[in-house]
Amino acid sequence: MRQLAAEVAHDIPARPPRAKNILIDLSAGNTWEAAQREWKYTGEYLDDGVVEFPERCELCNEANLKHVYRIRNVINGGEAWVGGDCIKRFLILDGAETIEDSRRMFEHQVRRARLADYLLNIGTRLICNEDPDLSLAEIRSFRNRLRTYLEIDHLDQKTLDPAIWDSILRVTTGVGWRGLSKGDVARIRDAIFAPAKIVGKANIMRNQPVESANVIRGKTRVATSFSRSIRTDAEKNRGVVLPP
Ligand SMILES: [Zn+2]
Repeated sequence: MRQLAAEVAHDIPARPPRAKNILIDLSAGNTWEAAQREWKYTGEYLDDGVVEFPERCELCNEANLKHVYRIRNVINGGEAWVGGDCIKRFLILDGAETIEDSRRMFEHQVRRARLADYLLNIGTRLICNEDPDLSLAEIRSFRNRLRTYLEIDHLDQKTLDPAIWDSILRVTTGVGWRGLSKGDVARIRDAIFAPAKIVGKANIMRNQPVESANVIRGKTRVATSFSRSIRTDAEKNRGVVLPP
């Protein structure tokens, strides 16, 4: 009889006590109800395959994760890398009323974080490579996703608010307009408002005679590794410096 009870108990999906206890340990409050409301998602994520990827979720200890997300305690500042399931299952993120609100909020924040990453990637390619090797469709998609990120219906160069323009430069390059050269700003502006200029330039360059094409390729190669290094820096910065 006792064995049966044990088997039945085993079949009941266990409330993962480990995750809950760890969360309480990491939180300022001593109760589960308090602990689950003390956290926010920082906007940072890591995909499996990067060097820094943690082996396990720091709450439930799950090892087979594809992505992890960083959470921060809003009271004691503690941080942890955890799986998305743990966030959706256990936390009521700061600013959310219910666990359902919290899940929606988290998913929205993850979409924005990924969008920002995409925009930074394309923006960096645009300013670091003479030939960013982007098709017209890719540049249009960049513009559309930029609009989605900014949550505005259309981008009109003539009526573009300076604050929005600064947000555009920040999300696409990691720096505001003060940190960019006129040429860099022009590249981003052309990609958004005159995409044919970017693609046109790439096509012209592909048709250069061999000799000068080598020079251009050499330049591009340098620019590409530069692009990679500033992207890595930007990623690192995104990983460390975030407004509270
Ligand atoms: Zn977990």
